[in-house]
Amino acid sequence: RMKKVALEGAARRAADAPAADGVAEVALIGRSNVGKSSLLNLVTFGAGAAVVSAKPGTTCSMNHYSVDGRWRLVDLPGYGYAEAEPGEIEAWDAFTKEYFATRENLAGVLLLIDASVPPTANDEKYANWLIENETPFTIVFTKCDRDKPKGPSVEDNKAAFRAKLEERWHRLPSMISTSSVTTQGRDEVLKFISSLIVY
Ligand code: GDP
Repeated sequence: RMKKVALEGAARRAADAPAADGVAEVALIGRSNVGKSSLLNLVTFGAGAAVVSAKPGTTCSMNHYSVDGRWRLVDLPGYGYAEAEPGEIEAWDAFTKEYFATRENLAGVLLLIDASVPPTANDEKYANWLIENETPFTIVFTKCDRDKPKGPSVEDNKAAFRAKLEERWHRLPSMISTSSVTTQGRDEVLKFISSLIVY
């Protein structure tokens, strides 16, 4: 159980991130509004609530949180932000891609996908990057409690995403269904994180 989650820094370029220093990092990525803050609060049992809700800098910063002074959670900029300036989306993409490819202490990634809506092209693109880079990661489906009265169900959306990946890959990443409302999936996410972090 995480006790203290403290903001260590906000970086707008990969070069401005805190020194790697052999401190293992677990990064979270997903489109804006995917439920990232809610998931962080869920898995930290609220220990990170204050720091997470008071997001420093702009939506385009990468925020490093020290967890109990032992490892880091890294909140990467959300992709596909509707009001992004021209050129900004490409800049975020490049920033994130560089981080995935070069950060030597990156232990793994949680790729958050909103299961209450059909998966987006960006969701697929990020999953493909992580697989291509051989970065350890898991898909975390968010909002799994949210079945809408009309349209595709949570199960339909999850199956559609899986089918997209199956078109390209034989081996798929693990997939965890979560809800910050019902707390579904919390233990599985924590188990995945602890499989990456050696104390
Ligand atoms: P962020 O922008 O990715 O940090 O997303 P937030 O955590 O702020 O959540 C965006 C919106 O989705 C908010 O209105 C949340 O209340 C809602 N939300 C987040 N997680 C869940 C969930 O598990 N279930 C439901 N029903 N809504 C959620």
